[in-house]
Amino acid sequence: AKGSLTVDICFYEADMDQAVRARRRVTQALREALDNERFELHYQVQASVQTGKATGYEVLLRWKDEDGRYVPPSDFIPVAEETGLILPIGEWVLRQACKQAAAWAESHKIAVNLSPIQLSHVDLPGLVQQILKETGLDASRLELEITETAMISDMERTTHVLRQLKALGVTIAMDDFGTGYSSLSTLRAFPFDKIKLDRSFMTELDGDEPQSQAIIRAVLTIGESLSIPVLAEGVETAEQLAFLRAQGCNEVQGYLLGRPQPEADALTNGAAQIAT
Ligand code: C2E
Ligand code: CA
Ligand code: CA
Ligand code: CA
Repeated sequence: AKGSLTVDICFYEADMDQAVRARRRVTQALREALDNERFELHYQVQASVQTGKATGYEVLLRWKDEDGRYVPPSDFIPVAEETGLILPIGEWVLRQACKQAAAWAESHKIAVNLSPIQLSHVDLPGLVQQILKETGLDASRLELEITETAMISDMERTTHVLRQLKALGVTIAMDDFGTGYSSLSTLRAFPFDKIKLDRSFMTELDGDEPQSQAIIRAVLTIGESLSIPVLAEGVETAEQLAFLRAQGCNEVQGYLLGRPQPEADALTNGAAQIAT
């Protein structure tokens, strides 16, 4: 029995070693990607349900590895957050997105995702102000998407930062609404400009499930009572869109309207109208 314990520990240490080395490899690769501009921004259209017209674009980060393959954000954002690399990467995303949008012919909004780390570790309002000034983007065209996780770690400090950001004229959206443990109290803590209903509710809607329908209706009612527009994420089918329209949902985003695409493609398809 003693022998096998030693063996187990050896295996465990080998695993640890491997995990540490894998993390180091990703960290190194992320640093190189940042230095060699191997990050790209893709844009996904958001549209008004009423008019069917594009209202804005969500900015989604893409990493092209040495072999030209896109590494999904879920594979590298957690590592970037653990190592703190999310700070320079997030700054690059903000600056690049504002720079690109400032050059667009139409004054669509851009919605940029913020990591909780960015909210708690830098003078974010100062950085945003400086980037807006530098790029000439009108503050009203920038929306920052924040998940509940960012709120619960340090509610007081976070709401203070969010208020400073709002004072600059940017808007704040609550991302992935309905997936956390305290979505409702988060709504109470800060006057969000938009609620983004998580796409898991859309998936479940397909089964014609009365529960999902009821929950979506309830979220739309909350939005209406608080005068906060609701955007439904992950809309893939005409049936989903029809249901959302009938229930008074304000905006939609999802494969039905357009996938995340490189800037030029997103803009040409950006008139992506939905039948009204
Ligand atoms: P998210 O903010 O919830 O972004 C929406 C995700 O849903 C995107 O995945 C998008 O491609 C996907 N999506 C959009 N429409 C549909 C649809 O109709 N069906 C399905 N099945 N999926 C759809 P993506 O691009 O892989 O990004 C994943 C997550 O990575 C994002 O989730 C966000 O949390 C994070 N992320 C992406 N870019 C950034 C960034 O620049 N900074 C930070 N901090 N996080 C980012
Ligand atoms: Ca988002
Ligand atoms: Ca989301
Ligand atoms: Ca998400």
